[in-house]
Amino acid sequence: KRVLVLGSGGREHAIGWAFKNAGCEVSFYPGNAGTKLEGKNLNISEAELLSGNILGEFDLVIPGSEDFLVKGIADGRINVFGPDSAGARLEGSKCFAKLFMEKYNIPTARFQIARNKVQLVDALKSFTPPYVIKADGLAQGKGVIIEDNFSNAVENGSKLMDGTLIPGVSGPVVVDEFLKGWELSAIAIVSGRKFALLPFTRDYKRVFTGNKGPNTGGMGAYGPVEINQKLVEKIRTIFDKTLFGLEKEGIYYKGFLYIGLMIVDEEPYVLEYNVRLGDPETEVIVAMEPEKFVGNVLKAFNNEDFEEYKSSKFAVDVVVASEGYPESPRKGQKIVIENIENSEKEGNILFYAGVKEQNGELVVSGGRVLHSVGIDNELGKAREKAYKNIQNIHFEGMFYRDDIAL
Ligand code: ATP
Repeated sequence: KRVLVLGSGGREHAIGWAFKNAGCEVSFYPGNAGTKLEGKNLNISEAELLSGNILGEFDLVIPGSEDFLVKGIADGRINVFGPDSAGARLEGSKCFAKLFMEKYNIPTARFQIARNKVQLVDALKSFTPPYVIKADGLAQGKGVIIEDNFSNAVENGSKLMDGTLIPGVSGPVVVDEFLKGWELSAIAIVSGRKFALLPFTRDYKRVFTGNKGPNTGGMGAYGPVEINQKLVEKIRTIFDKTLFGLEKEGIYYKGFLYIGLMIVDEEPYVLEYNVRLGDPETEVIVAMEPEKFVGNVLKAFNNEDFEEYKSSKFAVDVVVASEGYPESPRKGQKIVIENIENSEKEGNILFYAGVKEQNGELVVSGGRVLHSVGIDNELGKAREKAYKNIQNIHFEGMFYRDDIAL
């Protein structure tokens, strides 16, 4: 099979790595210095990729992030493993997602949609602090305001609507009731009404050890996380209702569906839908059982029976980041990796993210630079491996959390 993975992060490297190991011929667009180790990076413009028949030359195209899906890369293309633009609205529009959940009786925080300042004030008045205000469209994880003070909430919410809070982001907002609980992400492989949950993982959003500092794309993850069976059944019901609703709306969904949940008194509430895999969750999911992952994705893609699988191994992913991340990561430093072939047989993998090649050297090109993944039959040993392998990585200003999977 000829497989094309879209994106340039650790998630895309991990997906490509697994498909390559399963015997596929893998290409990446645009890829990074690490994906080159698994296959070919297409050196073309986005316009070239989307015009002509380049995409059609692949048996299977897997978009790593949501942007291509929201822009409609799967529309009319049966070789893309992901929803069309109608299905991608689950992630691309928070208003659509909330109204969809309301219509299909899917548990979520009580909410009101506001399209102007008057409606915003009105909506906020029907809630108590902390106030939660969310941008309708994609905002790279920055589109949620959580604010205790009423007038600050009005001010920032108005700025979010008129485009002065986040450059390029404007329009209606969702005002949510604040839910207090613990967060869990559930990801499934989906084909129509059928789905198979992937092993549960836990990710670490805050930049510094001890959950300090601002939110990031994720500083590490581990899995599988054991969850009690009752809760798993409730989560299955949420997937069921979601796929039922999509069918009713005339949306045929194929691909990955990621549901961000808040668990309040053992009851799951949907915070958000993502129409693709998570990063760094993917690195962990793929590393645990690469063959089962690829096998089930291919079955779902080919409309064959696919199934849920358990992982007999643990995986821990520790993100190695560059100083200044997430606000303004330092870039351009030379990276030295000793023992570059760092043995996969012994349960060590390095997935590359913000790394590019410059004059034959590896240099930092993004905030999250490398993912050090350890795999073992015991969680503690997987963790040790991930941290030990970091000792082989050197660049100025590197840092990582030391409490992943602790
Ligand atoms: P992501 O970057 O995860 O894609 P997003 O911008 O799509 O995020 P959400 O996932 O909806 O936004 O919210 C981001 C975070 O804000 C959540 O992970 C959660 O911590 C918090 N949050 C969102 N909605 C609520 C709520 N109703 N009650 C409490 N916390 C919330």
